[in-house]
Amino acid sequence: MRLLDALKSSTEFLEKAGVDDAFADSEMLVLHASGADRLSSYMDNPEISKGLQAKIRRLVRRRAKGEPVQYIVGQVEFFGLKIHIGKGVLIPRPETELLAEDAIKAVSRGRVTLPLQILDLCTGSGCIAIALAKAFPDSRVYGTDVSKTAIRYAKKNAAGSAVENVTFLQGSLYLPLKRSLCFDLIVSNPPYVKRGDIDGLQREIKEWEPLEALDGGGDGLDFYRSIFTDAPKYLCRGGRILVELGFGQAEDVKMLAMRQGFGTIEVRKDYAGIERILKAELRSQDTATIK
Ligand code: GLN
Repeated sequence: MRLLDALKSSTEFLEKAGVDDAFADSEMLVLHASGADRLSSYMDNPEISKGLQAKIRRLVRRRAKGEPVQYIVGQVEFFGLKIHIGKGVLIPRPETELLAEDAIKAVSRGRVTLPLQILDLCTGSGCIAIALAKAFPDSRVYGTDVSKTAIRYAKKNAAGSAVENVTFLQGSLYLPLKRSLCFDLIVSNPPYVKRGDIDGLQREIKEWEPLEALDGGGDGLDFYRSIFTDAPKYLCRGGRILVELGFGQAEDVKMLAMRQGFGTIEVRKDYAGIERILKAELRSQDTATIK
């Protein structure tokens, strides 16, 4: 059997199992199993061993049972970085790259204290924190997450990306941080799915990804409430906050931000036209405490 025959039969197998992107997923799995690059695989179409055929079948069967392809191959690309992920940590989404991109722009244009301090709440795999640490090598980036598994992956990813200016701490939101710390920028992609909507998500998400990384409470806004309530205590003067939003949450999160003394609020849509990133600036020390 040749590699492209394995690709064809894997695609058919996944199609029958009802997998949406059967071809793309088969290709990822076959290339992952063989370790060969895409171009030479297509050009050479090598004969493959029985052992490799069995390995491909094992991976494809896992995918057919609903496991996300990213967990099977164990990594994704995020902002040009290789991010390792696996069961227990949320798979970074392409739209979250917009958050990293906007955060970089916000820092580049803003007034900052030196050395720049950045906080990533609900850091998960650490993808955003690491992208920012790379973009600002003189900064100090902190990432927190309640999940021990997430923190383990985040630390591994920081080491793998050769960044040393990022510190990951396990604990809920601001809890693991010293109160004396002051940040120029807070970023977060918190859990924001309404509890009642979780059942309607794709099975790859609801059966495989960590519920604690998705569940934003009854109205999906629990984490935004906590994040914005305490943000003024942890932001330096003129500090900014950027959060990823779930579908239809922009107005509610804007209100939460304004109630905590934030202004200059901007919302950016993602490529699907959904309001996805909210940026806000802490107006000044005295308005920050108005409830
Ligand atoms: N974007 C994820 C989804 O599509 C949700 C991640 C989150 O809650 N932050 O379900």
